[in-house]
Amino acid sequence: AKGIVVIGGGLAGSEAAWQIAQRGIPVFLYEMRPFIPTGAHTGSNLAEIVCSNSLGSNLLSNASGLLLQELRILGSLLISIADSCSVPAGKSLAVDRERFSQTVTQNILKQPNITLIREEVVDLAFDSICILATGPLTSPRLASRLEALTQSNSLYFYDAICPIVDASSIDFSFAFKASRYMDPANSGDYVNCPLTKEQYLELSRELAHAERIKLHDFEKELYFEGCLPIEIMAKRGEDTLRFGPLRPTGLIDPKTNKRPYAVVQLRQDNLAASLYNMVGFQTNLTYKEQDRIFRIIPALKNAEFIRYGQLHRNTFINAPKLLLPTLQFKDNPFIFFAGQLAGFEGYAGNIASGLVAGINASRLFQGKEPVIFPRQTMIGELLWYICHADPLHFQPMKANFGLFDLTLEKNLPKDKAARNLFLSQRSLRNIEAFVRAILA
Ligand code: FAD
Repeated sequence: AKGIVVIGGGLAGSEAAWQIAQRGIPVFLYEMRPFIPTGAHTGSNLAEIVCSNSLGSNLLSNASGLLLQELRILGSLLISIADSCSVPAGKSLAVDRERFSQTVTQNILKQPNITLIREEVVDLAFDSICILATGPLTSPRLASRLEALTQSNSLYFYDAICPIVDASSIDFSFAFKASRYMDPANSGDYVNCPLTKEQYLELSRELAHAERIKLHDFEKELYFEGCLPIEIMAKRGEDTLRFGPLRPTGLIDPKTNKRPYAVVQLRQDNLAASLYNMVGFQTNLTYKEQDRIFRIIPALKNAEFIRYGQLHRNTFINAPKLLLPTLQFKDNPFIFFAGQLAGFEGYAGNIASGLVAGINASRLFQGKEPVIFPRQTMIGELLWYICHADPLHFQPMKANFGLFDLTLEKNLPKDKAARNLFLSQRSLRNIEAFVRAILA
């Protein structure tokens, strides 16, 4: 093979192409825009940022701040460009989106090892190492090829993301652990948040009347696929939720010894049990409304929401089933996946995955072993989660401290900000050591 093929010139694909080219290897980067639109991108530049212009907090006490700093140490092109195109946004890294994607495009075009090909890829018959990074809005023709490659039910076409809360912020004086019919074998799997009749009616009413995110045309068909947003269910009638996701069947509140009027169930989301998702709460409400309304649930009054609910078109594979932590496809190690398609969420996470896929594809090309990034770093924990999460309930994931397994940690600061800072400083030392020992 003459080089490495990268499909998709978005955040992940542009970073991947750059990492490969920097290692002296020819890259063929395919991008279908402007000839074929996605419905969300508006221009023809590479690495177009489609929605918010923020890459998250820059503070090291914040998960995104740690990931950004790790990416700087790892030599990410896109983060260095983001830094150079930043606009005032308090402690966050926000960019001038136009300048950002323009600068990325110029850098890619200037790199002599990269050939940019403006073409929709519809087949996967490459005889070279290939990185698939076609994003949440992968073209339908390629998506059907991917469906065949990954076999049915391993490729999702939309995201019905339920909100995720940090376990340590749940008020357990208003919650109890139990699974339905009080099955003692699985007693810890669900955290149940009981509601009185008044609390339930208030929650249902507020959900039905809350402000919603305006949908793109391509997203409207989603409702026919059988996964209704919680607010649409609430609109159908006062009892709909109580007979749906909030049904109390088989649950007895140990405090009252009675079945509650309604129950919001939280399901464990990671092995470390530091994250829980709100079962059945996929939603199109604005983040602000979610933040306000979910606090009606007494156990979530002071909850920290790691991720809000969402519902939009999103193509992604079942990474825990299909990928190795090197981002190689288990069935064919010459194929790598990166970006949202691989199950990474958030701009910085998508860039990180492109960097990892680019480095590992280069190593494979050069006859070296692809590397697994070290755990106890944000990038390493994110990769670990993507490849080890529960495949039955897999949803894309973004950087957060809940990914770190703290169960065996001693001497952690009690205060949350201090704890995060401690984890960040240790992560940065780990990344620096990794760069010196492995990537240098
Ligand atoms: P993209 O950046 O989308 O890049 C994929 C590229 O592949 C595109 O340029 C596309 O044109 C190209 N392509 C697709 N199919 C083909 C093909 N067959 N052949 C050739 N090229 C192809 N994340 C955030 O952090 N904050 C947000 O506010 C945010 N808002 C979002 C809003 C929407 C509507 C969507 C869909 C996603 C949003 N995301 C957001 C999620 C995610 O972070 C971004 O979508 C991010 O751009 C994903 O990076 P990527 O590299 O995986 O895909």
